[in-house]
Amino acid sequence: MKTRVLKINDVESDCSAILEAARLIQAGEVVAFPTETVYGLGANALDAAAVQKIFEAKGRPSDNPLIVHISKRQDVDRLIKELPSSAITLMERFWPGPLTMIFKKSPLIPDAVTAGLDTVAIRMPRHPVALRLIECSGVPIAAPSANRSGHTSPTMAQHVLDDLDGRIPLILDGGRCDVGLESTVLDMTAEVPTILRPGGITYEMLMQVLGEVRVDDGALKPVKKQQVKSPGMKYTHYAPHAQVVVVRGEPHQMVARINVMAEEYAKQGMKVGILATQETKAYYKEGQVLVLGSRKQPATMASNLFWVLRRFDELGVDIVLAEWIETKDEGLAIMNRILRAAAFRVIEA
Ligand code: AMP
Ligand code: MG
Repeated sequence: MKTRVLKINDVESDCSAILEAARLIQAGEVVAFPTETVYGLGANALDAAAVQKIFEAKGRPSDNPLIVHISKRQDVDRLIKELPSSAITLMERFWPGPLTMIFKKSPLIPDAVTAGLDTVAIRMPRHPVALRLIECSGVPIAAPSANRSGHTSPTMAQHVLDDLDGRIPLILDGGRCDVGLESTVLDMTAEVPTILRPGGITYEMLMQVLGEVRVDDGALKPVKKQQVKSPGMKYTHYAPHAQVVVVRGEPHQMVARINVMAEEYAKQGMKVGILATQETKAYYKEGQVLVLGSRKQPATMASNLFWVLRRFDELGVDIVLAEWIETKDEGLAIMNRILRAAAFRVIEA
């Protein structure tokens, strides 16, 4: 299959490309499209056969459910059984945006979307291309991140092409994703709304609105398969080809430890990458240093993370030594992704 890439500079003047993508969705095909979080690989969420094509193109395990994307608040009503009042408050505050909520599903949602669960994850993205595509398709769009399963999520059309060229018919190129990390997944069916996957809408932001929010244990720790609430959490995720090791400690201790490790690995003939921050970058002596951003701006660090991980691959590094980032605000989502990329290998500085 030939994969076409259509550039969208403006949803009005490039509407023919979006219409073409919408026709593919209506015909039961898959299309990659930009959202504010990462690129998604979408199909008609009400068509089980179309949804199946997403799993095939990605090589995604069939027990990992998809998020259903909508373009209007009312679209949610026929997709779920009940809408708690707290969810309405959250929709008013954070939709469209990087917040996914989990509800009891209506029979309209095929099992292929939810991997057989009786709940469904729903989000209204705020990217104009995503919103227009859903609107023009006239159906909700089920979409996971548009990468090969287990690989780093794509934040540019080129990343999608790197992973899925020849496996999907069309990519809409809307430039770089600004949030750069996947949405926050919030379970609204739990007694207290629970963050299953931290993302662009932070714990602190949700607390301000709800007053009580839990963070699932799996956010920063490996979870036992039997206890997994969000099936996506049990897979090694976001992994670049290089091995990743996280170093935790006070900034000066981390730098010192990383410098020692970098020297050792370099002596063994390995090409070393260092995932650094603005505040620490000047102190590294060895290796390919890439900067995530300033520790004072976790949202910027979040938006750079996947891009930087892919850059290490392009540079051909064998091992990435990553600094621990403080887990407040977007830092929680950043460490959730880095720890998975590292398969939870953490060294105390
Ligand atoms: P992705 O779209 O690749 O970013 O992955 C979607 C994430 O949402 C995965 O971690 C899924 O496990 C999670 N998810 C989707 N639907 C549900 C659901 N019904 N219950 C719990 N987690 C879900
Ligand atoms: Mg994904």
